[in-house]
Amino acid sequence: MQTLPSYLEGAWRTGVGDGVPVADAVTGEVVTRVTSEGLDLAAAVAYARRTGLAALAELTFPQRAAALKAAALALQERKHELYELSARAGATPGDAAVDVDGGIGTALVYASLARKGLPDHTIIVEDDPIPLGRGGTFAGRHVLTTPRGISVQINAFNFPVWGMLEKLAPALLAGLPTLVKPATPTAYVAAHAVRIIADTLPPGAIQLVAGGVPGLFDLLGGQDHIGFTGSAATAALLRSDPAVTRRSARFNAEADSLNCSVLGPDAVPGQPEFDLFADALVTEMTVKAGQKCTAIRRAFVPEHLLEEVAQAVQARLARVVVGAPGAPGVTMGPLVGLAQRDDVRAAVARLAAAGSVVWGDPAEVEVVGADAERGAFLSPLLLRADDPDRPEPHEVEAFGPVSTLMPYRDPARLLDLIARGDGSLAGSVVSHDGDFVRQVVLGAAAHHGRILVLDRDSAGESTGHGTPMPQLVHGGPGRAGGGQEEGGLRAVHAHLQRTAVQGGPHLLESIVK
Ligand code: NAP
Repeated sequence: MQTLPSYLEGAWRTGVGDGVPVADAVTGEVVTRVTSEGLDLAAAVAYARRTGLAALAELTFPQRAAALKAAALALQERKHELYELSARAGATPGDAAVDVDGGIGTALVYASLARKGLPDHTIIVEDDPIPLGRGGTFAGRHVLTTPRGISVQINAFNFPVWGMLEKLAPALLAGLPTLVKPATPTAYVAAHAVRIIADTLPPGAIQLVAGGVPGLFDLLGGQDHIGFTGSAATAALLRSDPAVTRRSARFNAEADSLNCSVLGPDAVPGQPEFDLFADALVTEMTVKAGQKCTAIRRAFVPEHLLEEVAQAVQARLARVVVGAPGAPGVTMGPLVGLAQRDDVRAAVARLAAAGSVVWGDPAEVEVVGADAERGAFLSPLLLRADDPDRPEPHEVEAFGPVSTLMPYRDPARLLDLIARGDGSLAGSVVSHDGDFVRQVVLGAAAHHGRILVLDRDSAGESTGHGTPMPQLVHGGPGRAGGGQEEGGLRAVHAHLQRTAVQGGPHLLESIVK
């Protein structure tokens, strides 16, 4: 089985040694082996600093936007190849659309935002001169310039294409060369995307290392940006590296979270919001087999509606068909691999101690078009915890098709329960009652990076609980990593150095023209 090459210093280079075998999520066959042993990461960093930085510095923001757009269009043209590879990682066509089309769309939005919103220049002047003296001869203003560093992007396994593009886009626009380190289980999908876009970008603007990155952080410092997506445990490890703690490399983390969705007391059976809530919960449980950092893990419903909601959700889960991506009727694929399934089963066992599994069997599932044991298949699992004071549902992330229903009595109690998640990427409130929505959104905002309000009026156009939008910030406080990505041009600004420049207005003008 071939080892997956890395794209370093403008060429595809293969590591040595056995590497880590990566199995097909559906069949268990080895797809590729991943190793970075023997690859010269120091040379890659030097190449990025030398060649990549210089090539990007020659381009203005609109020219970088044009390169980004060209990359997105190249992916668009060959996206079927990414769909095929994604299926081996367990993604149904619908799942692959979220990753591949979502990634392409994000890159195109960024290209468009940059073309319209950034100057035909390589620096951004943020403000008009701010007078600092009475006589008008002394003022200050802020300029944003490109650091003399690189962007190291460490991604999670679940969105190999979107995860890469949503980090690449702002880094490229900011003029920073990228070194991507995809997660091992889906590195072959990310590597193929790089194969497609490499020639559309300036030399050195993108490199990819498949496998571990020992020693890489020793090469990073205050001019560099590290974007991390993955588990809270890895985020904590990387955040404590001297590259961050001593040399102040910029570090942005997107970690896991126990996202919640809330059903309003007005949304009784028969009201559209009741169905919207049940539909959204099942969507979040089953898209990408629940392997989404934004998926609903905690579903809060009014105490008196708990039983009816459980039944409505179970009725919908009964229609889910688990199996090989693309097989007839299949609506949910496997998890990314057997190790991931083991992790999810272990997490479900902990969650079940706080209540019960009311739908699905963690040990068994009926599968269409594949072998249930060789592939990483798992049933959707709905849990119910009648005592929401149990800590498990607020602490244990089962990164799979798993969600826990919990009751709440009143808004104050609800806000207390929401806060026990310790910071989340995304929350939602499903209600048509403006007062209730206001209380929940304002009460829960401090614990969230994004909150979706869903009701009958917005449902038709709503992008849904779990979908980050490039125009809006993605990231959350506390457990969610404390970082922020996307948010339109905010993400580009976050890669640039803001410097306050003071002096006479005349000379200030000559600096920024
Ligand atoms: P993970 O095990 O933390 O791995 C994330 C990335 O970190 C992978 O690329 C991994 O590489 C790399 N990594 C691990 N140890 C490292 C080290 N010592 N130095 C440098 N890189 C290292 O997480 P995962 O299992 O891939 O992803 C699942 C988790 O990510 C879930 O908890 C989920 O909630 C979270 N997530 C969050 C978001 C978000 O936007 N906030 C999005 C998706 C997923 P290897 O694969 O080679 O080990």
